Amino acid sequence: MSRFEFTVWGARGSIPAPAAANTRYGSDTSCVEVRCGDRVLVFDAGTGIVGCGRRLYEERIAEIDILLTHCHFDHIIGLPFVIPLYKDHVAVRIHAGHFLDDTTCREMVERFMRPPYFPVTPKQFAAGIDYRDFRPPDVLDLGDGIVVRTVRLNHPNGAVGYRVDFEGRSVCYITDTEHEPGHRDDAVADFVAGAQVMIYDSTYTDEELPKYRGFGHSTWQEGVRLCRAGGVETLVIFHHDVLRTDASLASLADEAKAVFAGARIGATGLTLAIGEDGTVTESQGNGSGRTG
Ligand SMILES: [Zn+2]
Ligand SMILES: [Zn+2]
Repeated sequence: MSRFEFTVWGARGSIPAPAAANTRYGSDTSCVEVRCGDRVLVFDAGTGIVGCGRRLYEERIAEIDILLTHCHFDHIIGLPFVIPLYKDHVAVRIHAGHFLDDTTCREMVERFMRPPYFPVTPKQFAAGIDYRDFRPPDVLDLGDGIVVRTVRLNHPNGAVGYRVDFEGRSVCYITDTEHEPGHRDDAVADFVAGAQVMIYDSTYTDEELPKYRGFGHSTWQEGVRLCRAGGVETLVIFHHDVLRTDASLASLADEAKAVFAGARIGATGLTLAIGEDGTVTESQGNGSGRTG
């Protein structure tokens, strides 16, 4: 059975949070790398993708699938800094399916990578770029036994949740999304059921959420409820608010673990492997070595 693991390269939401108080869990915004055997999938292109891209270049990876949840800045701002995009031996597929109008993935990238916002345009990419548009609940067959399922999330301007199914094991990446307090989002609950891991938008707590209705984010407690409902044993708390420091995330970890043993805080450098029997273990992986 092939390797199936993922590395968090950025677990922050909304905006990076570089500060001395944030070194343990990291300051980069959303990016998660998934390895299925030799294949590389990268979810979101927040600032975390910069380090990821450097590592993929050093490893001479020649084929990369980048899958975007949506194109708010915290999920795309790292894209112009992905080294493999400027290498002509590399093939990159960029997937997006959140657009609520006629925008395409290619148009979106061309619109934000251009003067006066940025001096480099996608014309300068040397890699072979294949822009792929889809609409949830499309199922993306990426070959080599990798099946990526998609679901529409509740977020301003749209967002897509992903589920990677590979050799009988599954990891879900669900950010950014808002639930109605007291009401489970059945589409998300059904989507994640039976997976081994769910990475989940935990920008707020249940106590904080009422102040931020309509912002498009959820809570770690809702993540626990979804995991319990769907038999998902590992919850990765993700998309941390800019005000969460190492100290507050450490106490959040204690609080979450007390009610759900499989809860853990997403941190730059955290690598989890899903074994043959579905057991989730921390591994050395490809990250920076920092763990949460
Ligand atoms: Zn976000
Ligand atoms: Zn967003």
